[in-house]
Amino acid sequence: MNEATNAQTATLIDGKAIAASLRGEITRKVAGIKSNHGIKPGLAVVLVGENPASQVYVRNKAKQTREAGMNSYEHRLEAGASEKDLLKLVSDLNKDANVHGILVQLPLPDQINADAVLTAIDPAKDVDGFHVINAGMLATGQDGMVPCTPLGCLMLLKYHLDDLTGLNAVVVGRSNIVGKPMAQLLLREHCTVTIAHSRTKDLPGVCRGADILVAAVGRPRMIGGDWIRPGATVIDVGINRIDSGEGKTRLVGDVDFDAAKNHAGAITPVPGGVGPMTIACLLLNTVTAACKQNRVDVPS
Ligand code: NDP
Repeated sequence: MNEATNAQTATLIDGKAIAASLRGEITRKVAGIKSNHGIKPGLAVVLVGENPASQVYVRNKAKQTREAGMNSYEHRLEAGASEKDLLKLVSDLNKDANVHGILVQLPLPDQINADAVLTAIDPAKDVDGFHVINAGMLATGQDGMVPCTPLGCLMLLKYHLDDLTGLNAVVVGRSNIVGKPMAQLLLREHCTVTIAHSRTKDLPGVCRGADILVAAVGRPRMIGGDWIRPGATVIDVGINRIDSGEGKTRLVGDVDFDAAKNHAGAITPVPGGVGPMTIACLLLNTVTAACKQNRVDVPS
C-alpha cells in the first residue's frame, strides 16, 4: 500500500497537558495531607558535579516540587566528590524524618559506583524506584516504588486506551530505568509483552506486531513510519539533541514523528510527551512515600 492511500493522522497524546492536570491533583493531595495530618512531603535531590543537562533537570524538579506545596532540599557535591562522601549524605537523608523521598541524579562521575549509591537509599524513600528491592517488588507484583518514566508512560497509555488487556506491547530498550520496568508494568496490565534491544532480529518486523509500541533507545528517529502497525499507540521515550542547522540544536525522539503520525492511531510528541510526566510521577511518588512513612492513606 502506498503512503498516500495509507495516510491517517494520529491523535496527539499531550503529555504536557496530562502532566499539568496530574500536578494539579498532586497539589490538592499535598494540601489534604498537610491539613489533615500536619505532614509536608519533602523531596531531597542530590547532584554531583556540573553536568549541564542534569542541572536543568534538578532545577525543574525542585521548582515543581515547591509549586506542588512540598519541601524541596537540594544537595550539590563537587564533581570530584568521593563515593564515601555521597554515601554519608545518603545515610543522613535516610535518617532525616523531613525527607520522604531521595533522588540521586544520574549519571554519576566515574569514581562513584552508582549501584552502591542506589542500594544505599532507603527503599521506602527511593522515589526513583531504582533500588533492587523496588525492582523486585515490581517484578513480583508487589506494591513498591515504580520508576517515574515508565509510570508516566503507563498513565499516558491508560489515558488514551483505558484497558490494555490482551494487547501486544513491544518495548524497544531493556535498561533498568525504562525498558525493563516498562515491560513489567505492561505485563501487570495483562499485555502480551515483547522486549526488543540491540541484538533483536528483524526489529522492524517485531515492531510491526505491536498494538502498543514504546521506544526507549536513545537513537534519534530510529523507528520509521513503516515499522508501525496502522492504528498502533506509540509512546516515544527518547530524548535526543540533534543539530538543526545554523549552529542550533533541537530535541527529537527515537521515533520518526513526521512519518509515524501517518501510521499510528496515537502518538506522544518530543518534547511535550513523556518528559513532563516523568517529573509529575516523581512528585506523586514523593506524596505516596510521605503517606506510607507516616502510615496515613494517600488522599484519593
Ligand atoms: P540506555 O542507553 O540505558 O538503553 C538503551 C536501550 O536501547 C538498550 O537496551 C539498548 O540495547 C537499546 N538499543 C540501542 N541501540 C539499539 C538499536 N539499534 N536497536 C534496538 N535497540 C537498541 O537508555 P535509557 O533506557 O536510559 O534511555 C533511553 C532513551 O530514553 C534515551 O533517549 C533517554 O534520553 C530517554 N529517557 C527519557 C526520559 C524522559 O523523561 N522522557 C527518562 C529516561 C530516559 P542493549 O541493551 O542491547 O544495548
